[in-house]
Amino acid sequence: MDESIFIKILKKEIPGEIVYEDNDCFAIKDINPQAPIHLLIIPKKHIAKVSDANNKDKELLGSLLLASQKIAKKFDLDDNYRLVINNGPKAGQTVFHIHIHLLGGKSLSWSPG
Ligand code: AMP
Repeated sequence: MDESIFIKILKKEIPGEIVYEDNDCFAIKDINPQAPIHLLIIPKKHIAKVSDANNKDKELLGSLLLASQKIAKKFDLDDNYRLVINNGPKAGQTVFHIHIHLLGGKSLSWSPG
């Protein structure tokens, strides 16, 4: 399977700003930010989308949310931030490697549908 663009960033094969890393996942700055802070939290294991995950991924998926707490703290988001996962092309997914968008740094409106 081809490496995702995110794994290429992790391996420093292409540029990208890694702002967090642990055993399970890493986070980068989104190249096209939709808020003052827009990060992507990405598992090191390649899973294309949430609907492809299975029971074996339970712990890994949980670790992404726990990582989001640490990252939000690091960016002084003061418990005010949004987590978004697009699943599938019709839902706006463009990179087929699971990632959680972490958005914050301003008051966020809500009209995602
Ligand atoms: P999604 O549309 O939910 O799949 O999100 C993919 C995100 O990846 C988009 O917000 C893009 O702006 C972002 N993105 C694509 N290529 C890069 C890159 N090279 N570095 C950082 N972010 C990227």
